[in-house]
Amino acid sequence: MFLYKQEWGAIIIEKQTKILTSSPEDIREAGKIIAEGGIVAFPTETVYGLGASALNGNAVKKIFAAKGRPSDNPLIVHIADKKQISEIAEEITPAAEKLINAFMPGPFTIILKKKQYIPDEVTAGLDTVGIRFPENETAAALIKAAGVPVAAPSANLSGKPSPTRAKHVKDDMTGRADAIIDGGDCGVGVESTIVDASGETPVILRPGGITLEDLRAVIPSARVDEHVLKAVSDDEKPKCPGMKYTHYSPDADVIVVEGERSAVRAEINRLISENRNKTIGVLTMYESAYDDAVILSAGKDNKEYAKNLFAALREFDALGADMIFAEFRETDGYGLAVKNRLYRAAGNNVIHV
Ligand code: AMP
Ligand code: MG
Repeated sequence: MFLYKQEWGAIIIEKQTKILTSSPEDIREAGKIIAEGGIVAFPTETVYGLGASALNGNAVKKIFAAKGRPSDNPLIVHIADKKQISEIAEEITPAAEKLINAFMPGPFTIILKKKQYIPDEVTAGLDTVGIRFPENETAAALIKAAGVPVAAPSANLSGKPSPTRAKHVKDDMTGRADAIIDGGDCGVGVESTIVDASGETPVILRPGGITLEDLRAVIPSARVDEHVLKAVSDDEKPKCPGMKYTHYSPDADVIVVEGERSAVRAEINRLISENRNKTIGVLTMYESAYDDAVILSAGKDNKEYAKNLFAALREFDALGADMIFAEFRETDGYGLAVKNRLYRAAGNNVIHV
């Protein structure tokens, strides 16, 4: 039975969603669904993705409808063999070649000039395309089983935190995806590092599991785009269309508090006492005790923070939090990815103390 639902201006069909496992038979079935124009949520090492055949514009449109995603925000093309890159990209620059050798497969997306035949639905009309080779075995097996490159964004409803656990995918995509492969928890927890390698100097458009330090070890001139930690104003056109949209937002308001540790602690306590009528959540990587707040630990370092962050934001919603105060420790490595996701989740509502 199909139910029709009016949402985000588009009519989407509420589907029967199959729950599949990572078994070879189930992966074969999921691959067939993609090959035939359906959409399947699948685990990767970063977050869960929602995939369709990257060669089928109509199938790709179903992803936008299922997520409520703005149509000008392109998807990433997932491959399972480096040879596929030259079938998708028009030009592989010398810098790109080095990056591909160093970081693929892995939590890394490379932006290159696209070949013309890649549908506009995938790239939102851009002349470049994002390509990623996931390390996760289930993801790689699914792409092979589909027999086509797989276009996928994260498998959350647009604007919500990316799903890093199968339960979160089921919460968002039941009735919307044709199938969901339950592959357990994602290891990295934040999305891939996106690097624009279509020009001479590689530029990080989104920080992730491959860090700036990792990139600079291969190409010393690599740099970070200014919008990674800065809001995009109405008159600016960011290099990465995703930068201009609300992201990772739980129902609760998120406020990031940063600065010297004891000052941060004092400020969070002050904010808690100022909002006594609300349910307050605190996300921390310290053993900080706050009175009258639901405290979730993000782990002891930024790698753990990245892995737990999106799940914690969803958990705060489940616990009925109205406001979330987030503290973290700025360091190298995963620190930039954590900071970027926190800033976005907070809509750049950051208090410096
Ligand atoms: P998601 O993994 O769900 O965040 O979606 C893919 C992300 O990749 C979005 O932020 C897109 O804006 C970004 N992206 C995809 N293709 C391109 C491209 N050709 N140039 C810049 N950013 C891209
Ligand atoms: Mg996303």
